[in-house]
Amino acid sequence: MCKVTAVVLIVVFLGNVQEASRLLGCKDVRVNCLDEYGMTPLMHAAYKGKADMCKLLLQHGADVNCNEHEHGYTALMFAGLSGKTDITWMMLDAGAETDVVNSVGRTAAQMAAFVGQHDCVTVINNFFSRARLDYYTKPQGLEKEPKLPPKLAGPLHKIIMSTNLNPVKMVMLVKENPLLAEVEALDKCRRVMELICEKCIKQQDMNEVLAMKMHYISCVLGKCASFLKDREDKLDGLIKSLLKGRDSDGFPMYQEKFIRECIRKFPYCDATLLQQLVRSVAPVEIGNDPTALSVLTQAITGQVGFMDAEFCTSCGEKGAEKRCSICKMVIYCNQTCQKMHWFTHKKVCKNLQELREKQDTESAKLRMQQNKVGLWCRCLRKKQQETEETITESECSLMTDLLHLLKGWNNYIYPGMVLVTCDANSPPTVKHFLTNLAL
Ligand SMILES: [Zn+2]
Ligand SMILES: [Zn+2]
Repeated sequence: MCKVTAVVLIVVFLGNVQEASRLLGCKDVRVNCLDEYGMTPLMHAAYKGKADMCKLLLQHGADVNCNEHEHGYTALMFAGLSGKTDITWMMLDAGAETDVVNSVGRTAAQMAAFVGQHDCVTVINNFFSRARLDYYTKPQGLEKEPKLPPKLAGPLHKIIMSTNLNPVKMVMLVKENPLLAEVEALDKCRRVMELICEKCIKQQDMNEVLAMKMHYISCVLGKCASFLKDREDKLDGLIKSLLKGRDSDGFPMYQEKFIRECIRKFPYCDATLLQQLVRSVAPVEIGNDPTALSVLTQAITGQVGFMDAEFCTSCGEKGAEKRCSICKMVIYCNQTCQKMHWFTHKKVCKNLQELREKQDTESAKLRMQQNKVGLWCRCLRKKQQETEETITESECSLMTDLLHLLKGWNNYIYPGMVLVTCDANSPPTVKHFLTNLAL
């Protein structure tokens, strides 16, 4: 490795953007220089999670698809491994190929999934470049007009890039753009979505995930168009229908049925993804888990479950924090989302409130029991230090109570804790309990 290359790599490694910018201005510095493992400065910057540096390198012509790494890693793979969604997106936007595999046959999305960077997987799986959409904004062949009016490309691209597949959110995105929220525009967008869907299926490296997403978007846009034709309320009625919960528990029946219908209407029956989705959704009774939305979301974005993050009850956006002040059991992005949901949530809010209060009382009771157990254990430990390991009959009954209590407790708090069930003929010793309790 030459001296100049070494200097560039060190500067990139340290993340000194100013110095890197100066260096890249010199004529004997090559932006795509390689280190001894075949890594470019861009790969280093992506792996280290330095967004500013990546941006600078790309501006200076860094090759995002350079594939000289000794194990075939690309800059996109390093971005995925870093867990930085902004850098992953930047690489994709710069034209990174998503289907390149490394020496162990893994794509960037698979590498990111392997190390648990699921947000990056989502970004990769849902990337659809603006250039691919812009193709439809130019007349092709004998066409006099393009299939997609250029002014619609921006708002449509925003919907395509969204990783939130909640139909309420999609309708909100349509509604917020007056250009898009009219029947003719929606029909054109729908047609383009169907064409892309077809292309994804028929192209050589078939992309069923993207095809399913395009089809789903087309269905939602179609629904918007049919509501706009029938009603004068600018899609408010559609949002309401999608949010309306059934009386018993607030489960949004219309939304569930709509998403199931979208899946069923996927035009390519042989697609493996379609068969997988149908297998997961069909046996589930409407109202039970998993919902069609969660199955579809997992298939398309790779997001597993809706457990570890807070999602808005109305629109499904991640990162919602505002709780309903009465029941405290549902969360929203903001007041708009809450207001939108209130007409249906108000029917179950009180029940949810009672449920929460009951849970609160129970957890308070449990905490008291915990304290009691803690006290017993301390007493026992003291006794173990002072005397031999045998215990009296009264202590034994206390222990039995304790064991009983802990067994019930086990289910709630210490799922990993194994309690040895004692043989009636050989009563437990203090030590026996203490080691099994591990308190
Ligand atoms: Zn929301
Ligand atoms: Zn509430």
